[in-house]
Amino acid sequence: MQYISTRTGAPILEFEDVVLTGLANDGGLYVPKVWPQISADNHILDMDDVDYVELAFEIIRPYIEDKCIEDIKLKCLIDDSYKPFKRPSVAPLVQIESNAWMLELFHGPTLAFKDFALQFLGRMFEHILTKRDKRLTIIGATSGDTGSAAIEACKGRDNLDIFMLHPLGRVSDVQRRQMTTVLDSNVHNIAIEGTFDDCQDLVKEMFNDALFRDDLNVSAVNSINWARVMAQIVYYFYAVSRLKKYDRPISFIVPTGNFGNVYAGYSAIQMGLNAANLVVASNHNDILTRFFETGDMSIMPVKPSLSPSMDIQVSSNFERLLFDFYDRDGEAVSNSIKMFREEGVLPGGNKIHSLASNIFSGYSTNDEGTLLAIKQLYDDRGVLVDPHTAVGLGALKQLKNNETLHVVLATAHPAKFPDAVKQATGINPDLPTFLSDLYDREERFTKLNNNLSAVESYIRDVMSSKIHC
Ligand SMILES: *Cc1c(COP(=O)(O)O)cnc(C)c1O
Repeated sequence: MQYISTRTGAPILEFEDVVLTGLANDGGLYVPKVWPQISADNHILDMDDVDYVELAFEIIRPYIEDKCIEDIKLKCLIDDSYKPFKRPSVAPLVQIESNAWMLELFHGPTLAFKDFALQFLGRMFEHILTKRDKRLTIIGATSGDTGSAAIEACKGRDNLDIFMLHPLGRVSDVQRRQMTTVLDSNVHNIAIEGTFDDCQDLVKEMFNDALFRDDLNVSAVNSINWARVMAQIVYYFYAVSRLKKYDRPISFIVPTGNFGNVYAGYSAIQMGLNAANLVVASNHNDILTRFFETGDMSIMPVKPSLSPSMDIQVSSNFERLLFDFYDRDGEAVSNSIKMFREEGVLPGGNKIHSLASNIFSGYSTNDEGTLLAIKQLYDDRGVLVDPHTAVGLGALKQLKNNETLHVVLATAHPAKFPDAVKQATGINPDLPTFLSDLYDREERFTKLNNNLSAVESYIRDVMSSKIHC
């Protein structure tokens, strides 16, 4: 498979190089040149009891060129990636209403859906780097969950260092500790005095600094890395295959921040997944739901919410969708994004909105609604959910279509956000036993200003001291 940049000014690359490169060097994001098709009569999709790992192999294989990795090795790598998950089915589907289910994506090592992509990506990095005898400096920004999942996937791997930027004081204690208590010498946590968008901008600027990027051989684990989106496509197929027996249209409700998870759903549909539509669920930082309601995408200040991993206004992966809606015209995307960044409003929003509304709709739920959704599900079913999942449940309540089956993606374990769960129900959700000593572990991180040169020189210093000793 070949990959092209959404701004078409960067070289066309194959899978391995796309994984190592992350962001394209014209500032765009890599997407597959064509969408591989999974035919409806693929034997895997016909199985009533499809195995997650086998399904993952079928979905991922067409995105990777043959010479990169042999089938047997790929299978092994996928198998290994989902072994740390604590449920045999990997992604259990739990019924919550007569026509609604939750797809539990939080049984991985860091309790959020990001483990699905990052456990795979960490192993893929290692495979490629070992083969090429190369080293990599991974730099990422996190609103909480990406950081811990990426660090967990990369810790202790010989041929890479990971620098993770998080917004100081804006991630939960559990999230921070899941990052800062990993003391492996290749893990470097940086707390930035700013928002998640500031962290993400710093990372983008470091990528656009060619000298820095080449000197340190920088790559990304953010959802701008294609391999993450790719790995997340799998569970959409998984859920549809599990619900096939009902023979009804299925719509996915996706708690959304950076648009990576829901873009994976879009990718699945492009591959031939039989899904009715995708519902983008937002908290009060609702730029995306405003857009899917009205076509108006205008940036507002980010306000902290009970679902911090969705406190985002500029959703990187939206550019990938825009690329398709602009008929893959990279120049048009580039101009449009430039204007969006400069003026805070996406030009031509109405036209794109009318194209998008065939597949997407959007609903937002504020903090009050989030708490109510947590409480209601607990009262009705005795099930605790985290506040991000609750934003999805808030969207479910606003939907009226009874013909459709709904699958709410449950993106984090309730114990990852205990404060909101306690506020809603009075119950303090327990961490799983493998994390029960998290609050006793030693923490390590460095605090820096929201300033590109300060961050770059810190990273350079750390890396040069490593090389010298
Ligand atoms: C990252 C995250 C989201 C948002 O996912 P995107 O792919 O950024 O849209 C939602 N919920 C949780 C728990 C997350 O960690």
